[in-house]
Amino acid sequence: ISFAHFGFDDSLIDAIRRHGYTEPTGIQRQAVPVALSGRDIIGIAKTGSGKTAAFIWPMLVHMMDQEELEKGDGPIGLILAPTRELAHQIYLEAKKFAKAYGLKVGVVYGGASKGEQFKELRGGGIEILVATPGRLIDLVKMKATNLRRVSYLVLDEADRMFDLGFEPQVRSICNNVRPDRQTLLFSATFQKRVERLARDVLTEPVRISI
Ligand code: AMP
Repeated sequence: ISFAHFGFDDSLIDAIRRHGYTEPTGIQRQAVPVALSGRDIIGIAKTGSGKTAAFIWPMLVHMMDQEELEKGDGPIGLILAPTRELAHQIYLEAKKFAKAYGLKVGVVYGGASKGEQFKELRGGGIEILVATPGRLIDLVKMKATNLRRVSYLVLDEADRMFDLGFEPQVRSICNNVRPDRQTLLFSATFQKRVERLARDVLTEPVRISI
């Protein structure tokens, strides 16, 4: 199986090849077709597996299908991550491929200037946002952005978000994103509380583990 089997268009395939990826990883093989079909996913996978691209590529395809891409403000794809470091890594991975479609990626996290992040979000034009949960809630409260357009939501490293005490924030964000969204949850482990979250925020998810 090659990237062409996913049905990606030439601009995305070119971007993938340009970045030196020659074949999909295991998690990509399994998760990409399911995500492209519009289903929710529980992915049990670790960093290093290629899981970031596995959710970013279908996110881009999803966004190209959205009529509302032209109008409104606020992100359409939202990725929640536990730490600044992971958020930044996801941001870099998303940027590699978003350019192929002229989509703009932004990142916000705690421990850095809120003023700068406020300005960046307020300026508009960000279609894909990577965020740590607490900082995102602060910025939404400040009306730097809104979550009304979000229709593709990723919860990355859900177990670590819980370890860091972000469960209330993650749940609050899920409850404020439209219910007809597509949701992908990734976690290195599948503990009781991750299972509970999955039951509460996913709709008939497909479970994938590698
Ligand atoms: P991740 O697990 O998403 O953090 O990805 C781990 C690393 O693998 C990142 O540096 C990616 O850029 C890289 N990567 C992801 N998918 C592929 C692929 N299909 N071929 C080669 N490298 C990849």
